This record gives sequence, structure tokens and C-alpha cells, in this order.
Amino acid sequence: MARDPKHDVLFEPVRIGPKKLRNRFWQTSHCAGPGSERPGAQAHFRGMKAEGGWGAVFTEFCSIHPESDEYPYTSARLWDQGDVVNLGYMCELAHQHQSLAGVQLWYSGGNAPSLESREFGRSPSQWLAPIFSTRNVYGIEMDESDIGAVITMYVEAGKRAEQAGFDLLEVSAGDDTVPIQFLEPRFNHRTDNYGGNFENRSRFFIELLLALKRQLGEHCAITTRFEMDTLHGPEGVEAHEDGLRMLEKFRTEGVIDAVALKIGDYAEWGEDAGVSRFRKSGWMTPFIKQGKAILGSGIAVVGNGRLTSPDDMVALIKAGVLDIIGAARPSIADPFLPNKISEGRLSDIRECIGCNICVSKFQQGGQIMCTQNATIGEEYRRGWHPEKFSATTKPLSVLVVGAGPAGMECARVLAERGYTVHLRDAEAELGGHWKQVVKLPRLSEWGRVISYRQAQLAKWKKNIQVHLGIGRMSAADVLNYGADRIVLATGSYWAPDGQSAGSGAIPGADDTLSHVLTPFQVIAGKQVVGDRVLILDGDGHFMGIALAELMANQGKQVTYVCDAPDIAEYGVFTMESFNNKRMLFEKGIRIYTSHWVERIEPGRVRLSYAYRFGPDLIGPLSGGIPRKDNGGAFDLEVDAVILATSRHSNTTLWRELKARNAEWAANDIQDIFRTGDCKAPAQLNQAIWDAHRLAREFDSPHPAYPLPWIRERQLWGGATIPKLGDERPHVEKHL
Ligand code: SF4
Repeated sequence: MARDPKHDVLFEPVRIGPKKLRNRFWQTSHCAGPGSERPGAQAHFRGMKAEGGWGAVFTEFCSIHPESDEYPYTSARLWDQGDVVNLGYMCELAHQHQSLAGVQLWYSGGNAPSLESREFGRSPSQWLAPIFSTRNVYGIEMDESDIGAVITMYVEAGKRAEQAGFDLLEVSAGDDTVPIQFLEPRFNHRTDNYGGNFENRSRFFIELLLALKRQLGEHCAITTRFEMDTLHGPEGVEAHEDGLRMLEKFRTEGVIDAVALKIGDYAEWGEDAGVSRFRKSGWMTPFIKQGKAILGSGIAVVGNGRLTSPDDMVALIKAGVLDIIGAARPSIADPFLPNKISEGRLSDIRECIGCNICVSKFQQGGQIMCTQNATIGEEYRRGWHPEKFSATTKPLSVLVVGAGPAGMECARVLAERGYTVHLRDAEAELGGHWKQVVKLPRLSEWGRVISYRQAQLAKWKKNIQVHLGIGRMSAADVLNYGADRIVLATGSYWAPDGQSAGSGAIPGADDTLSHVLTPFQVIAGKQVVGDRVLILDGDGHFMGIALAELMANQGKQVTYVCDAPDIAEYGVFTMESFNNKRMLFEKGIRIYTSHWVERIEPGRVRLSYAYRFGPDLIGPLSGGIPRKDNGGAFDLEVDAVILATSRHSNTTLWRELKARNAEWAANDIQDIFRTGDCKAPAQLNQAIWDAHRLAREFDSPHPAYPLPWIRERQLWGGATIPKLGDERPHVEKHL
């Protein structure tokens, strides 16, 4: 297909200082987990985006010195020559695809936990409290020689970056790094030439940019990711005050080649990388427009906003809001987004759903994962390409039972690989339980999980048949179907009796009663009796909080209860915790954290506090500790209880088929597999990944078990591993 000419502007080159960006697609710096320690993962992850058409690809935040050590969070590092070698490979792969390689130079000063290096960071002032009480660290207050030393650290790291092959040196001036610490009055209490009025507070940043420009500006473009509004009012950087003044300074001082604009800081990171539940595509446009108006045409402006529609991108460029489309999450969900636009294949774009599972995995110390793109992070270690699939040498027929996201993903990848697939579901529509989930408040964008796969299945009509509304398949139906192999993707259900990880069934919890409901029953339309409803959340992700909002929207008096110390705790990792709390407050929802329901009766529940003393909790271990009464337990009057406590796999069909294992061969069935929630209830990204992996490895010796993958780590004494897999006994040795 040919590109629509109205999208041509997206593919115009842009000059950035001494460099030329081949188009207007710029993968902004974003965390992913490889850092400098796993160079293969880093290079192939960013290199895949370059192959997919991103004109610039950046590392994640890159520490310039051991004083700015973010361990255990994985940053890239440019501390020494070893890092030059490791990051150099990323630059090499980016250049192979004519893309520019960018690095974000990061110095977090007194905010760095330094759990590996143990070195103190330096800050403009020794403020009265740490930025994060969870880190509980303070920095050295810089004198003028320290300021010179820190600028030298940046320049030396910049030289190493140039040596590695980086084209774009981006100074992080956000997320509480030192340039923004100097700018923000809440962190800068100095009374010398670097504190007080704006001129003084901006001095460090300008001197830093000047030093980089003088020493490295001939061969590298000097850019910044600048937080034009930290969302902390006059004590921070406000767009209408210091933020705009700083942009004016960039323009007049001539120290910068491009500015990537953002809002929010470390604490309000969720306002920059906002989830779709709270921030729709392009929500930062008013800020970026203001910035561009000041910066003019001499400095290229990069603007983010989870943009996935080429029409929206073109409109922003034509309206003069920005010059370059910045993207982190859209490039994760679809590394080939630019190429698909260029080739006119818009229906193949795998749009980001704004769930922030990607960043949540980094926040947990892990590597990147994505709900939409199962291949992310697997480019090097498993050799997965998001758009290419190896053809099978044994084109069998496969029956996939269950057309939820996992079943759809498995079917589409099997079809890509040349298998003949029948995808069947009891219900009349594709999507499984996910089509119910997306009806909850704020979750409609998550429907892209279904619509993308629906479009892909339609492309593969030649070897996929989809049979919907066929009723539940019995074991006999499956055995007699005539397929060579079977994949069960039958999903999961919510516990009807309130079971959770920490407790068994709750007395009185029974979803056949009119006043007790599971989430799926609510979404399916079971009436929620009365006005007073209690949501019990043992799951901690989105379900409990979305149901609380749904009930509040229906005019109910809502009480939200969870056993965790914070509401919807997983939201800390997806960066929606603050907005979840704002929503609960605005909707008048009553909250009990660290509580659980002891029993349910018509018209009331008994709640208890998680940390109370009591004979049932302390038991024989109480020793000499004096026991208190069952303190903290009390009754609450409610009309209905919704149990979002835990999920269980739908295994009935699997167990029946396993019990009839002796009949498989007689029915010419080679094997039967499970995938997704029917194997173990999981976050959607994991269910889809599992289905994708099964289909990728369907012709391996034992497809139910993942093949070994490349582990990147240093080997002692220069030892080598002969070949992939030799280090780990494969499961077949145990079968
Ligand atoms: Fe988008 Fe979610 Fe994928 Fe992140 S995990 S890129 S937010 S779809």
C-alpha cells in the first residue's frame, strides 16, 4: 500500500544542530530495564525501533557518574569505558537503520539512593526533608567548586557518549534532576549567584548547556528534556513563570538544538506518562503549544502525548504546536508505527492502550513488558521480531478454544506461522472477559487489545476460521473435533466466596445471594441491591477501583475496602495512584485500607483491622506478648457487597481432557495445551505473552515449556557458554 500524501509531512527530515533527523519520529528516553549492563537487550530493543522507522532512538535515563546511582532501578550508565563499549552497540544498530542515537544525561544529586556505589550526590541546597521519604537520603550542598565538578562530570560523560557513537546528548531537566533542582525554589535555598531570583536559579542550567555546547556541540546535538511545569505551583517550576522564562533563555542564549517538553516531576510522573484512565491522547498540547510559541523556529520542539493517530500528528505539526512527534509508549506498543504509516498500513498499527504496565515493570525493578506487544524486551534474548514469524515446517491443524485476548493472540501468531487454525468461543463476540472490562469507567481505550487482534484475524482468513456463539465445548466435542493439536484459552473467574491470598472464604460470601456479587456479575448486569455498596479489593489492580467508580457514578454510597496499606496498590507502579486517590475523594467514596471483611450478613458486614491483636492472629506464637481483645473489628451497614478478591482458572475442560488422556491418540490428537488465564490468572500482558510464546514455540520439542533464552551477565574469568541452552538443562531431561 502507498502512503497517504497527507501524512508526507511526518517523513520530512529535520535539522538538529549538526545532525539531520531522517523524519519527525523521535523515541523519547524511556525506562526499559536493560541499562548498560545488558547491552544485547539494550541494542536490539532500541535497534528494533530504528528498524521500525523511528528517526531517533534514545536510551533510558543515563547516569553520568556513580554519585547519581539509581540502583536498584536500572538506568543506563556512562561511568567508564566499559559503558562506552556496551552502549556503543546500541548506537551501531541505530545507525544501521539511518536513525540517530540519543542518550539522556542524568544526575539526580541528593535524590540518588546510590545503593550500589554508596557515594553521596550533590544538590543546590540541603533541603529540610528528602524528596522521597522512602529513600531517606540527603545530598551534599554544593559550593562553587562542586558546581564546576558536576558540570565536568556531565562533560566527561558527554565525551564518553560521543565516543560510543551517540548523536544526541539530552540533558534531563526534569524528574528532580539537578538542573531542575536549581530552578525550583522548593529545592534551591541558596543566597549566592546560583539562588534567589530566576536569573540566578537558571545559571547552573545555562552554564551546563554552554559547557556541553562548547566541548561537544560540533559533532553532537545538544538537547534537553525540560519540565516546563513541575506542577508544584510557585514553589516549583510553573509554566506561566519560570518554565516559560527558561524557554525564553534557551532561545536567546543559543545553547540548545532541540527541546523535548514535558510536565510533572518524579512525584507527579503520572501527569507526563499519564494513563488513559485519566489522560487522553494529546493532553499536553496546551503546554507544548505555549513552549513552541516562545522557542520559535530556531529550536526544534519535541512533543509527547501518547499519539498513535497519524492524522492527529499531522494536525499538530501543521498547527505549529510542535516539530517532532515524541513517543515512548506508542513506540513500545508498536515499534513499527512510523513504517506502517509510511506504507499506508494504518489498520496494522498496534495502538498503545495507556495502561502503563510497561513502566510498572521497571518500577518493580524488572524489564519492560507491554500489554499490546508481547515481543517487547524479547528482541535479543529470545530473538523475537514484532513483525516477522518463522514459518512452521509442520503445518498442523489447531483448535483454539476461547477467543479472549490470549486465544486471539495465539490464533493470530499460529496463522502467521502457517498453521490452520479454528478459533471457537461459546459467546457471540470476540474478546472473552476483556469485552466486559472495557465497559468499566475510563477503560474504553483498553478495547484496542481486541480491535487490533480482530483486524489481524480478519487478515488471515485463508488459514483461520472463527466460530462464535457455539456454546461451551465439552471434552467429547474437543476430542471429536478433528484437530491435530488443541489449545485451551478458557480464561478465569472471580472467586464467588471472597477467597483471597491472605484468607479463605468469607462466611456469608456467596454470589448466588442477591446482596453478594462478583465483578463479572456486576458487569453482566446483576442488580446491585440498595444504595449502600461495599467493594472488597484483594486484587489491587484496576478492578476494585473501577467498580467503586462505577457504583459512585450510579449514585450509590460506596465504601472501598482493601487489605493492603494503600488503595489499588498496583497503581503505585502504573503511576495512577495519585489520580485514583483524587477520584475517590471527588466521588465521596469512603475508604478502609488495611481492613478485611470477616463476615457478610444481609444489611451489614463485619470489618476488621489487619494489624489488630487477637488470639486468631497471634496464636501459639504470642509467647509472653500480652493479648488485646479483638480490637479493630466493627460492623458496617451495607446493602450489597462486591467481591473483587481473587481469580481462579477455568480448568473444568482441561481436567476432563486430561482425565481422558488415553483417548487423545485414538482421536489423532498429538497434544493439548493451556494458555493465558486458564493456566493461571494473570495480568493481561502476561496472558497475551504466554499465548504468543506458545505459538512461537509450537514446533519445539515441548511447547508447554519455554525454550531457554540468552541470559546476559558477566562470566567470571572470561569463561564462555558454548551455545544457547547448554547452561540450563532443558525440561525434556525431566520428562
Ligand atoms: Fe501502552 Fe500499556 Fe504497552 Fe505501555 S504496556 S506501551 S501503556 S499498551
